[in-house]
Amino acid sequence: MSCLFCRIVAGEIPAKRVYEDTDLVAFEDIKPEAPVHILIVPRQHIGSLNELTIEHDRLVGAMQRRAAILAAERGVAGSGFRTVVNTNAAAGQTVFHLHLHLLGGRSLSWPPG
Ligand code: 5GP
Ligand code: ZN
Repeated sequence: MSCLFCRIVAGEIPAKRVYEDTDLVAFEDIKPEAPVHILIVPRQHIGSLNELTIEHDRLVGAMQRRAAILAAERGVAGSGFRTVVNTNAAAGQTVFHLHLHLLGGRSLSWPPG
């Protein structure tokens, strides 16, 4: 298995896991860009948003809802947080296993770079 996040999901590569269920795993980003920076990934390998089908609608909703729950647990739901999915090179995607970034704990500028 060559996909980095598939290997993290399988426990072959260590990560600071903060949540998991039958569909999702969430873990701390190795290079945090904010005081809260968590990655929420499906257990199933999906390369990017470009690969989604209607079958994934519930899963993607669960990823966003989990981000809001984790934001509340980290105390940033009220102050504000951002969820981001980078898709392909121009957006800066570097790991080609779908992941939702949860960023919070500081002011986040807009528009993003
Ligand atoms: P992307 O640029 O694809 O949207 O985001 C990939 C993210 O994965 C980056 O924020 C990067 O820091 C994180 N990352 C890359 N390799 C690892 C790793 O081995 N472990 C963890 N926890 N995060 C990683
Ligand atoms: Zn994968």
